[in-house]
Amino acid sequence: GLSSRLQNVFGKLRGKGKVTEEDLNDAMREVRLALLEADVNFKVVKEFIAKVKEKALGQELQKSFTPGMIIIDIVNKELTELMGGTQSKLAKAAKSPTVIMMAGLQGAGKTTTSGKLALMLKKSNHKPLLVAGDIYRPAAIKQLEVVGSGVGVPVFTLGDQTSPVEIARQGVQHAKDNGLDYVIIDTAGRLHIDEALMDELKQIHEVTKPDEVLFVVDAMTGQEAVNVAQSFHDQLALTGVVLTKLDGDTRGGAALSIKAVTGCPIKFAATGEKIEPLEPFHPERMASRILGMGDMLSLIEKAQAGIDADKAAEMERKMRTAEFTFEDFLDQMEQVRKMGPLDQIMDMLPGMNKMKGMKDMKVDDKQVGRVEAIVKSMTTEEKRKPEVLNHSRRKRIAAGSGTSVAEVNRLIKQFDDMRKMMKQFSSMMGPGSKGPKGA
Ligand code: GDP
Ligand code: MG
Repeated sequence: GLSSRLQNVFGKLRGKGKVTEEDLNDAMREVRLALLEADVNFKVVKEFIAKVKEKALGQELQKSFTPGMIIIDIVNKELTELMGGTQSKLAKAAKSPTVIMMAGLQGAGKTTTSGKLALMLKKSNHKPLLVAGDIYRPAAIKQLEVVGSGVGVPVFTLGDQTSPVEIARQGVQHAKDNGLDYVIIDTAGRLHIDEALMDELKQIHEVTKPDEVLFVVDAMTGQEAVNVAQSFHDQLALTGVVLTKLDGDTRGGAALSIKAVTGCPIKFAATGEKIEPLEPFHPERMASRILGMGDMLSLIEKAQAGIDADKAAEMERKMRTAEFTFEDFLDQMEQVRKMGPLDQIMDMLPGMNKMKGMKDMKVDDKQVGRVEAIVKSMTTEEKRKPEVLNHSRRKRIAAGSGTSVAEVNRLIKQFDDMRKMMKQFSSMMGPGSKGPKGA
Protein backbone atom coordinates (compact mmCIF):
# COMPACT_ATOMS: atom_id res chain seq x y z
CA GLY A 1 0.00 0.00 0.00
CA LEU A 2 0.90 3.63 -0.28
CA SER A 3 1.61 4.14 3.38
CA SER A 4 4.37 1.54 3.48
CA ARG A 5 5.84 2.87 0.24
CA LEU A 6 5.96 6.34 1.67
CA GLN A 7 7.45 5.12 4.88
CA ASN A 8 10.27 3.61 2.90
CA VAL A 9 10.87 6.87 1.09
CA PHE A 10 10.77 8.91 4.25
CA GLY A 11 12.65 6.41 6.30
CA LYS A 12 15.67 7.40 4.22
CA LEU A 13 15.14 11.01 5.11
CA ARG A 14 15.50 10.61 8.82
CA GLY A 15 18.42 12.29 10.38
CA LYS A 16 18.51 14.80 7.57
CA GLY A 17 17.95 18.37 8.60
CA LYS A 18 15.15 19.00 6.18
CA VAL A 19 13.11 17.53 3.41
CA THR A 20 14.22 18.83 0.05
CA GLU A 21 12.14 19.23 -3.04
CA GLU A 22 13.94 16.26 -4.52
CA ASP A 23 12.96 14.11 -1.54
CA LEU A 24 9.43 15.26 -1.97
CA ASN A 25 9.52 14.35 -5.63
CA ASP A 26 10.51 10.82 -4.67
CA ALA A 27 7.54 10.60 -2.37
CA MET A 28 5.20 12.09 -4.93
CA ARG A 29 6.28 9.49 -7.46
CA GLU A 30 5.02 6.82 -5.06
CA VAL A 31 1.77 8.67 -4.52
CA ARG A 32 1.34 8.97 -8.26
CA LEU A 33 1.85 5.23 -8.78
CA ALA A 34 -0.55 4.35 -6.00
CA LEU A 35 -3.26 6.54 -7.49
CA LEU A 36 -2.79 5.22 -10.99
CA GLU A 37 -2.92 1.70 -9.60
CA ALA A 38 -6.21 2.62 -7.97
CA ASP A 39 -7.50 3.55 -11.43
CA VAL A 40 -7.57 7.28 -10.98
CA ASN A 41 -7.60 9.22 -14.24
CA PHE A 42 -4.06 10.34 -15.17
CA LYS A 43 -5.01 13.98 -15.67
CA VAL A 44 -6.64 14.02 -12.27
CA VAL A 45 -3.52 12.46 -10.79
CA LYS A 46 -1.31 15.09 -12.36
CA GLU A 47 -3.28 18.00 -10.99
CA PHE A 48 -3.57 16.32 -7.66
CA ILE A 49 0.17 15.76 -7.32
CA ALA A 50 0.87 19.38 -8.11
CA LYS A 51 -1.52 20.47 -5.42
CA VAL A 52 -0.15 18.14 -2.77
CA LYS A 53 3.41 19.18 -3.54
CA GLU A 54 2.55 22.78 -3.08
CA LYS A 55 0.92 22.05 0.26
CA ALA A 56 3.71 19.78 1.44
CA LEU A 57 6.46 22.25 0.63
CA GLY A 58 4.73 24.81 2.76
CA GLN A 59 4.87 22.52 5.78
CA GLU A 60 7.60 22.33 8.32
CA LEU A 61 8.37 18.73 7.52
CA GLN A 62 11.70 18.64 9.26
CA LYS A 63 10.15 19.41 12.60
CA SER A 64 7.75 16.56 12.31
CA PHE A 65 8.79 13.28 13.87
CA THR A 66 7.17 11.39 11.02
CA PRO A 67 7.44 13.32 7.76
CA GLY A 68 6.09 10.33 5.83
CA MET A 69 2.98 10.35 7.92
CA ILE A 70 2.54 14.06 7.41
CA ILE A 71 2.71 13.60 3.66
CA ILE A 72 0.19 10.77 3.79
CA ASP A 73 -1.98 12.99 5.88
CA ILE A 74 -1.82 15.79 3.32
CA VAL A 75 -2.51 13.34 0.51
CA ASN A 76 -5.47 11.95 2.38
CA LYS A 77 -6.91 15.36 3.19
CA GLU A 78 -6.55 16.50 -0.41
CA LEU A 79 -8.14 13.31 -1.71
CA THR A 80 -11.01 13.77 0.67
CA GLU A 81 -11.34 17.35 -0.48
CA LEU A 82 -11.29 16.26 -4.10
CA MET A 83 -14.20 13.93 -3.46
CA GLY A 84 -16.28 16.69 -2.00
CA GLY A 85 -14.79 17.02 1.47
CA THR A 86 -17.90 16.47 3.46
CA GLN A 87 -20.87 14.30 2.85
CA SER A 88 -23.33 15.63 0.23
CA LYS A 89 -26.98 15.41 1.12
CA LEU A 90 -29.90 14.42 -1.05
CA ALA A 91 -31.80 17.40 -2.48
CA LYS A 92 -35.16 18.33 -1.01
CA ALA A 93 -37.73 20.25 -3.00
CA ALA A 94 -39.20 23.36 -1.41
CA LYS A 95 -42.56 22.05 -2.51
CA SER A 96 -43.33 18.32 -2.29
CA PRO A 97 -42.75 15.98 -3.99
CA THR A 98 -39.00 15.89 -4.45
CA VAL A 99 -38.32 14.31 -7.81
CA ILE A 100 -35.27 12.08 -8.19
CA MET A 101 -34.31 10.81 -11.61
CA MET A 102 -31.97 7.84 -11.92
CA ALA A 103 -29.63 7.64 -14.90
CA GLY A 104 -26.83 5.41 -16.02
CA LEU A 105 -25.80 2.54 -18.22
CA GLN A 106 -27.54 -0.81 -18.21
CA GLY A 107 -26.49 -3.00 -15.33
CA ALA A 108 -25.02 -0.10 -13.35
CA GLY A 109 -27.52 -0.75 -10.59
CA LYS A 110 -30.24 1.87 -11.16
CA THR A 111 -33.18 -0.37 -10.29
CA THR A 112 -31.48 -1.91 -7.28
CA THR A 113 -30.35 1.50 -6.08
CA SER A 114 -33.85 2.92 -6.58
CA GLY A 115 -35.10 0.30 -4.16
CA LYS A 116 -32.36 1.09 -1.65
CA LEU A 117 -33.06 4.79 -1.91
CA ALA A 118 -36.79 4.18 -1.40
CA LEU A 119 -36.02 2.10 1.69
CA MET A 120 -33.68 4.75 3.05
CA LEU A 121 -36.36 7.41 2.63
CA LYS A 122 -39.06 5.23 4.09
CA LYS A 123 -36.90 4.55 7.14
CA SER A 124 -36.60 8.28 7.71
CA ASN A 125 -40.38 8.62 7.68
CA HIS A 126 -40.87 9.73 4.11
CA LYS A 127 -43.41 8.44 1.64
CA PRO A 128 -41.56 7.58 -1.55
CA LEU A 129 -43.00 6.40 -4.85
CA LEU A 130 -41.07 4.29 -7.34
CA VAL A 131 -41.81 4.96 -10.99
CA ALA A 132 -41.17 2.22 -13.55
CA GLY A 133 -39.61 4.16 -16.40
CA ASP A 134 -37.72 1.30 -18.03
CA ILE A 135 -40.07 -0.29 -20.55
CA TYR A 136 -37.40 -1.84 -22.75
CA ARG A 137 -35.45 -4.31 -20.71
CA PRO A 138 -37.43 -7.55 -20.43
CA ALA A 139 -39.03 -7.90 -17.01
CA ALA A 140 -37.70 -4.51 -15.91
CA ILE A 141 -41.08 -3.45 -14.60
CA LYS A 142 -41.51 -6.72 -12.77
CA GLN A 143 -38.06 -6.28 -11.24
CA LEU A 144 -39.01 -2.89 -9.85
CA GLU A 145 -42.30 -4.24 -8.57
CA VAL A 146 -40.51 -7.00 -6.71
CA VAL A 147 -38.07 -4.48 -5.25
CA GLY A 148 -40.93 -2.15 -4.31
CA SER A 149 -43.01 -4.79 -2.58
CA GLY A 150 -39.89 -6.02 -0.80
CA VAL A 151 -39.44 -2.64 0.88
CA GLY A 152 -43.12 -1.79 1.10
CA VAL A 153 -42.99 1.14 -1.28
CA PRO A 154 -45.63 1.64 -4.00
CA VAL A 155 -44.56 1.29 -7.63
CA PHE A 156 -46.19 3.38 -10.34
CA THR A 157 -46.39 1.72 -13.75
CA LEU A 158 -48.38 2.06 -16.95
CA GLY A 159 -47.03 -1.12 -18.48
CA ASP A 160 -44.61 -1.19 -21.39
CA GLN A 161 -46.85 0.33 -24.06
CA THR A 162 -46.79 3.91 -22.77
CA SER A 163 -43.75 6.11 -23.34
CA PRO A 164 -41.39 6.52 -20.39
CA VAL A 165 -41.84 10.28 -20.63
CA GLU A 166 -45.56 9.93 -20.09
CA ILE A 167 -45.05 7.38 -17.32
CA ALA A 168 -42.72 9.78 -15.54
CA ARG A 169 -45.13 12.70 -15.92
CA GLN A 170 -48.09 10.72 -14.59
CA GLY A 171 -45.94 9.23 -11.86
CA VAL A 172 -45.13 12.65 -10.46
CA GLN A 173 -48.82 13.61 -10.68
CA HIS A 174 -49.74 10.42 -8.86
CA ALA A 175 -47.39 11.33 -6.02
CA LYS A 176 -48.90 14.82 -5.78
CA ASP A 177 -52.41 13.44 -5.71
CA ASN A 178 -51.58 10.91 -3.05
CA GLY A 179 -49.47 12.99 -0.71
CA LEU A 180 -46.24 11.10 -1.46
CA ASP A 181 -43.18 13.28 -0.86
CA TYR A 182 -40.45 11.61 -2.97
CA VAL A 183 -40.65 10.30 -6.52
CA ILE A 184 -37.87 8.02 -7.69
CA ILE A 185 -37.91 7.58 -11.44
CA ASP A 186 -36.13 4.44 -12.57
CA THR A 187 -35.04 4.73 -16.17
CA ALA A 188 -33.69 2.54 -18.91
CA GLY A 189 -30.02 2.14 -19.67
CA ARG A 190 -28.07 0.97 -22.68
CA LEU A 191 -24.82 -0.84 -22.86
CA HIS A 192 -23.39 2.25 -24.50
CA ILE A 193 -24.58 5.79 -24.64
CA ASP A 194 -26.77 6.40 -27.66
CA GLU A 195 -28.80 9.31 -28.90
CA ALA A 196 -32.21 7.72 -28.54
CA LEU A 197 -31.56 7.00 -24.88
CA MET A 198 -30.26 10.49 -24.21
CA ASP A 199 -33.21 12.09 -25.97
CA GLU A 200 -35.63 10.13 -23.88
CA LEU A 201 -33.82 10.99 -20.67
CA LYS A 202 -33.73 14.65 -21.66
CA GLN A 203 -37.47 14.62 -22.26
CA ILE A 204 -38.13 12.96 -18.90
CA HIS A 205 -35.95 15.65 -17.39
CA GLU A 206 -37.87 18.44 -19.13
CA VAL A 207 -41.25 17.09 -18.14
CA THR A 208 -40.55 16.20 -14.51
CA LYS A 209 -38.01 18.91 -13.65
CA PRO A 210 -36.15 16.67 -11.19
CA ASP A 211 -34.59 18.14 -8.06
CA GLU A 212 -31.98 15.47 -8.23
CA VAL A 213 -30.46 13.64 -11.18
CA LEU A 214 -28.44 10.76 -9.81
CA PHE A 215 -25.89 9.15 -12.05
CA VAL A 216 -25.57 5.51 -11.05
CA VAL A 217 -22.20 4.03 -11.87
CA ASP A 218 -20.54 0.70 -11.30
CA ALA A 219 -17.34 1.31 -9.35
CA MET A 220 -15.68 -1.54 -11.21
CA THR A 221 -15.99 0.21 -14.58
CA GLY A 222 -12.71 2.02 -14.11
CA GLN A 223 -11.52 4.71 -16.51
CA GLU A 224 -14.43 4.36 -18.92
CA ALA A 225 -16.78 5.51 -16.17
CA VAL A 226 -15.33 9.00 -16.44
CA ASN A 227 -16.24 9.39 -20.12
CA VAL A 228 -19.72 8.00 -19.56
CA ALA A 229 -20.26 10.32 -16.61
CA GLN A 230 -19.13 13.30 -18.65
CA SER A 231 -21.56 12.55 -21.51
CA PHE A 232 -24.46 12.12 -19.12
CA HIS A 233 -23.48 15.30 -17.35
CA ASP A 234 -23.31 17.29 -20.59
CA GLN A 235 -26.83 16.22 -21.50
CA LEU A 236 -28.62 16.04 -18.19
CA ALA A 237 -26.85 18.30 -15.72
CA LEU A 238 -26.31 15.60 -13.10
CA THR A 239 -26.65 16.65 -9.49
CA GLY A 240 -25.06 13.65 -7.85
CA VAL A 241 -23.40 10.29 -8.29
CA VAL A 242 -24.17 6.92 -6.76
CA LEU A 243 -21.23 4.57 -6.75
CA THR A 244 -22.39 0.95 -6.81
CA LYS A 245 -20.70 -2.42 -6.35
CA LEU A 246 -18.18 -1.11 -3.89
CA ASP A 247 -18.44 -4.51 -2.25
CA GLY A 248 -16.18 -5.78 -5.04
CA ASP A 249 -12.44 -5.48 -4.89
CA THR A 250 -12.19 -2.21 -6.75
CA ARG A 251 -10.07 0.47 -5.20
CA GLY A 252 -12.60 3.01 -6.39
CA GLY A 253 -10.25 5.37 -8.17
CA ALA A 254 -12.91 5.95 -10.81
CA ALA A 255 -15.05 7.58 -8.17
CA LEU A 256 -12.43 10.16 -7.53
CA SER A 257 -12.01 10.86 -11.22
CA ILE A 258 -15.74 11.29 -11.81
CA LYS A 259 -16.00 13.87 -9.09
CA ALA A 260 -12.89 15.65 -10.27
CA VAL A 261 -13.92 15.70 -13.93
CA THR A 262 -17.65 16.43 -13.70
CA GLY A 263 -17.69 18.31 -10.43
CA CYS A 264 -20.66 16.22 -9.35
CA PRO A 265 -20.57 15.13 -5.74
CA ILE A 266 -20.79 11.44 -4.93
CA LYS A 267 -23.79 11.25 -2.67
CA PHE A 268 -24.23 7.55 -2.02
CA ALA A 269 -22.31 4.31 -2.05
CA ALA A 270 -23.86 0.89 -2.64
CA THR A 271 -22.26 -2.29 -1.41
CA GLY A 272 -24.44 -5.24 -2.29
CA GLU A 273 -27.23 -6.85 -4.24
CA LYS A 274 -29.48 -7.05 -1.21
CA ILE A 275 -31.93 -4.19 -0.82
CA GLU A 276 -30.76 -2.37 2.26
CA PRO A 277 -31.04 1.34 3.01
CA LEU A 278 -28.72 3.27 0.72
CA GLU A 279 -25.60 4.47 2.52
CA PRO A 280 -24.34 8.03 2.34
CA PHE A 281 -20.95 8.34 0.69
CA HIS A 282 -18.08 9.24 3.02
CA PRO A 283 -15.24 10.98 1.14
CA GLU A 284 -12.80 10.32 3.95
CA ARG A 285 -13.36 6.58 3.99
CA MET A 286 -13.07 6.47 0.23
CA ALA A 287 -9.77 8.31 0.37
CA SER A 288 -8.43 5.73 2.80
CA ARG A 289 -9.69 2.97 0.57
CA ILE A 290 -7.96 4.44 -2.47
CA LEU A 291 -4.75 4.79 -0.52
CA GLY A 292 -5.23 1.35 0.92
CA MET A 293 -4.55 2.18 4.51
CA GLY A 294 -7.60 1.37 6.55
CA ASP A 295 -7.62 2.93 9.95
CA MET A 296 -4.04 4.16 9.92
CA LEU A 297 -5.13 7.73 9.42
CA SER A 298 -7.42 7.98 12.36
CA LEU A 299 -4.57 6.66 14.41
CA ILE A 300 -2.18 9.23 13.07
CA GLU A 301 -4.67 11.94 13.78
CA LYS A 302 -5.01 10.77 17.33
CA ALA A 303 -1.29 10.54 17.75
CA GLN A 304 -0.78 13.98 16.29
CA ALA A 305 -3.41 15.50 18.51
CA GLY A 306 -1.94 13.95 21.62
CA ILE A 307 1.78 13.78 21.14
CA ASP A 308 4.11 16.68 21.10
CA ALA A 309 6.31 16.00 18.08
CA ASP A 310 9.55 17.26 19.62
CA LYS A 311 8.94 15.31 22.76
CA ALA A 312 8.10 12.15 20.83
CA ALA A 313 11.26 12.44 18.77
CA GLU A 314 13.33 12.82 21.93
CA MET A 315 11.54 9.87 23.45
CA GLU A 316 12.24 7.78 20.43
CA ARG A 317 15.90 8.66 20.53
CA LYS A 318 15.99 7.61 24.16
CA MET A 319 14.36 4.33 23.30
CA ARG A 320 16.98 3.59 20.75
CA THR A 321 19.85 4.56 22.96
CA ALA A 322 18.34 2.63 25.87
CA GLU A 323 18.04 5.73 28.02
CA PHE A 324 14.36 5.25 28.50
CA THR A 325 13.65 5.51 32.22
CA PHE A 326 10.73 5.23 34.54
CA GLU A 327 10.51 9.00 34.53
CA ASP A 328 10.15 8.91 30.77
CA PHE A 329 7.62 6.20 31.24
CA LEU A 330 5.60 8.47 33.46
CA ASP A 331 5.88 11.19 30.87
CA GLN A 332 4.88 8.78 28.16
CA MET A 333 1.87 7.70 30.14
CA GLU A 334 0.82 11.30 30.36
CA GLN A 335 1.08 11.56 26.56
CA VAL A 336 -0.81 8.34 26.00
CA ARG A 337 -3.52 9.48 28.37
CA LYS A 338 -4.00 12.52 26.15
CA MET A 339 -4.42 10.26 23.14
CA GLY A 340 -7.38 8.49 24.64
CA PRO A 341 -8.04 4.93 25.70
CA LEU A 342 -5.01 2.86 24.86
CA ASP A 343 -6.94 -0.23 23.87
CA GLN A 344 -8.74 1.78 21.22
CA ILE A 345 -5.45 2.96 19.81
CA MET A 346 -4.07 -0.55 19.92
CA ASP A 347 -7.01 -1.81 17.90
CA MET A 348 -6.13 0.57 15.11
CA LEU A 349 -2.52 -0.48 14.87
CA PRO A 350 -1.98 -3.35 12.48
CA GLY A 351 -0.39 -6.26 14.27
CA MET A 352 -0.46 -4.52 17.63
CA ASN A 353 -3.93 -5.36 18.74
CA LYS A 354 -2.84 -8.86 19.55
CA MET A 355 -0.05 -7.79 21.84
CA LYS A 356 -0.56 -9.46 25.17
CA GLY A 357 -1.37 -7.41 28.20
CA MET A 358 -2.04 -4.23 26.29
CA LYS A 359 -5.77 -4.40 26.72
CA ASP A 360 -5.39 -4.05 30.48
CA MET A 361 -3.41 -0.87 30.17
CA LYS A 362 -6.15 1.67 30.67
CA VAL A 363 -4.56 4.99 31.43
CA ASP A 364 -6.54 7.40 33.55
CA ASP A 365 -5.70 10.34 35.78
CA LYS A 366 -5.91 8.32 38.95
CA GLN A 367 -3.57 5.72 37.61
CA VAL A 368 -1.07 8.33 36.48
CA GLY A 369 -1.08 9.64 40.04
CA ARG A 370 -0.26 6.22 41.52
CA VAL A 371 2.43 5.58 38.94
CA GLU A 372 3.93 8.91 39.83
CA ALA A 373 4.03 7.93 43.49
CA ILE A 374 5.71 4.63 42.69
CA VAL A 375 8.28 6.17 40.36
CA LYS A 376 9.11 8.89 42.90
CA SER A 377 9.86 6.18 45.47
CA MET A 378 12.56 4.72 43.27
CA THR A 379 16.23 5.58 43.46
CA THR A 380 17.88 7.12 40.41
CA GLU A 381 19.57 3.79 39.70
CA GLU A 382 16.28 1.94 39.87
CA LYS A 383 14.66 4.41 37.52
CA ARG A 384 17.39 3.92 34.97
CA LYS A 385 17.90 0.18 35.34
CA PRO A 386 14.71 -1.70 36.15
CA GLU A 387 16.73 -4.94 36.16
CA VAL A 388 17.97 -4.15 39.67
CA LEU A 389 14.45 -4.15 41.06
CA ASN A 390 14.54 -7.29 43.20
CA HIS A 391 11.88 -8.29 45.68
CA SER A 392 13.16 -6.31 48.65
CA ARG A 393 13.48 -3.16 46.54
CA ARG A 394 9.95 -3.66 45.31
CA LYS A 395 8.69 -4.04 48.86
CA ARG A 396 10.45 -0.84 49.90
CA ILE A 397 9.00 1.05 46.91
CA ALA A 398 5.49 -0.22 47.67
CA ALA A 399 5.75 0.96 51.24
CA GLY A 400 7.21 4.30 50.23
CA SER A 401 4.50 5.02 47.69
CA GLY A 402 1.58 3.76 49.72
CA THR A 403 0.83 1.08 47.15
CA SER A 404 1.25 -2.70 47.14
CA VAL A 405 3.99 -4.99 45.86
CA ALA A 406 1.47 -6.34 43.37
CA GLU A 407 0.94 -2.86 42.01
CA VAL A 408 4.66 -2.21 41.77
CA ASN A 409 5.08 -5.52 39.96
CA ARG A 410 2.34 -4.59 37.57
CA LEU A 411 3.95 -1.26 36.83
CA ILE A 412 7.30 -2.86 36.09
CA LYS A 413 5.54 -5.26 33.78
CA GLN A 414 3.82 -2.33 32.08
CA PHE A 415 7.11 -0.52 31.76
CA ASP A 416 8.44 -3.54 29.89
CA ASP A 417 5.33 -3.67 27.74
CA MET A 418 5.61 0.02 27.03
CA ARG A 419 9.19 -0.44 25.96
CA LYS A 420 8.11 -3.15 23.57
CA MET A 421 5.30 -1.00 22.27
CA MET A 422 7.56 1.98 21.81
CA LYS A 423 9.98 -0.17 19.90
CA GLN A 424 7.22 -1.38 17.63
CA PHE A 425 5.80 2.10 17.30
CA SER A 426 9.14 3.58 16.39
CA SER A 427 10.00 0.82 13.94
CA MET A 428 6.65 1.44 12.34
CA MET A 429 7.24 5.09 11.81
CA GLY A 430 10.93 5.12 12.12
CA PRO A 431 14.15 4.87 10.16
CA GLY A 432 14.48 2.22 7.51
CA SER A 433 11.11 0.93 8.48
CA LYS A 434 9.29 -1.37 6.12
CA GLY A 435 6.07 -0.13 7.62
CA PRO A 436 3.44 -2.00 9.53
CA LYS A 437 2.32 -5.38 8.30
CA GLY A 438 -0.46 -5.19 5.78
CA ALA A 439 -0.19 -1.45 5.21
P1 GDP B 1 -29.79 -1.37 -13.86
O1 GDP B 1 -29.75 -2.03 -15.17
O2 GDP B 1 -28.95 -0.12 -13.84
O3 GDP B 1 -31.16 -1.13 -13.37
O4 GDP B 1 -29.09 -2.36 -12.84
P2 GDP B 1 -29.74 -3.37 -11.79
O5 GDP B 1 -30.27 -2.64 -10.62
O6 GDP B 1 -30.70 -4.28 -12.48
O7 GDP B 1 -28.45 -4.16 -11.33
C1 GDP B 1 -27.67 -4.93 -12.22
C2 GDP B 1 -27.01 -6.05 -11.45
O8 GDP B 1 -26.09 -5.51 -10.51
C3 GDP B 1 -27.99 -6.85 -10.63
O9 GDP B 1 -27.61 -8.21 -10.68
C4 GDP B 1 -27.83 -6.32 -9.23
O10 GDP B 1 -28.16 -7.27 -8.25
C5 GDP B 1 -26.39 -5.97 -9.21
N1 GDP B 1 -26.07 -4.87 -8.26
C6 GDP B 1 -26.65 -3.67 -8.14
N2 GDP B 1 -26.05 -2.93 -7.18
C7 GDP B 1 -25.06 -3.70 -6.67
C8 GDP B 1 -24.07 -3.52 -5.65
O11 GDP B 1 -23.96 -2.47 -4.99
N3 GDP B 1 -23.22 -4.55 -5.41
C9 GDP B 1 -23.31 -5.72 -6.13
N4 GDP B 1 -22.44 -6.68 -5.83
N5 GDP B 1 -24.21 -5.91 -7.09
C10 GDP B 1 -25.08 -4.93 -7.37
MG1 MG C 1 -32.98 -1.34 -14.32
